[in-house]
Amino acid sequence: MFKGPLTESILPRAQKNGLVHFDFLNLRDFGLGSRKKVDDTPYGGGAGMVLRVDVMAEAIAAAKSKIKNQKSKVILLTPQGKVFNHSKAVELSQKYEALILVCGHYEGFDERIRNLVDEEISIGEYVLTGGEIPAMVLIDSISRLLPGVLGTTESLNAESFTDGQLLEYPQYTRPDDYDNLTVPEILKSGNHAEIETWRKAQSIAKSQIYKKRN
Ligand code: SAM
Repeated sequence: MFKGPLTESILPRAQKNGLVHFDFLNLRDFGLGSRKKVDDTPYGGGAGMVLRVDVMAEAIAAAKSKIKNQKSKVILLTPQGKVFNHSKAVELSQKYEALILVCGHYEGFDERIRNLVDEEISIGEYVLTGGEIPAMVLIDSISRLLPGVLGTTESLNAESFTDGQLLEYPQYTRPDDYDNLTVPEILKSGNHAEIETWRKAQSIAKSQIYKKRN
């Protein structure tokens, strides 16, 4: 599942340039018996299968052994965790040298897995089939904040949620007129100070609409 997002565009380039490193452990490699069993039926009955705590503990220990002397954190992806946002992405990109992202699957995981992790993160109030997509959301949003990963620092600075939680100002490019939808004249004026003022005002207006919406 990780192959597509991590082999296209910005992230593989960052990895090639040594700015970030991704490694993956397959829970099956820590599975039990000849069938490499990683899950079991829930005590008390109910639908689905639950990931075993002993298997998960082995996998987390193996992941930790790969990042021994690095300042790290083990994060469990779960819809019951704290909802992820830009400030959390900044914190994780700055405070830690390595992150272990634990993905659940099936019905979820044995509750005792919560004792093996430092933090629980959700990517929103809905349920996905597994933790892989949430993990990729964290990988992408955190990696792009690391120095040098994006081409220019400007591309980070004006972006939504980076400047005091403001949204980015509206952007336009050619054509000037598309079906009577025109580019604001100010952007073609060449007056950089006025463009800056206009962008700031637009940014504030957009952010107010966003706040009302959410
Ligand atoms: N039965 C669980 C519950 O109701 O809380 C949901 C299990 S979900 C089908 C399987 C796995 O997907 C979870 O263990 C978690 O790792 C991941 N997952 C699903 N939705 C998520 C979300 N919104 N944020 C983070 N991880 C999520």
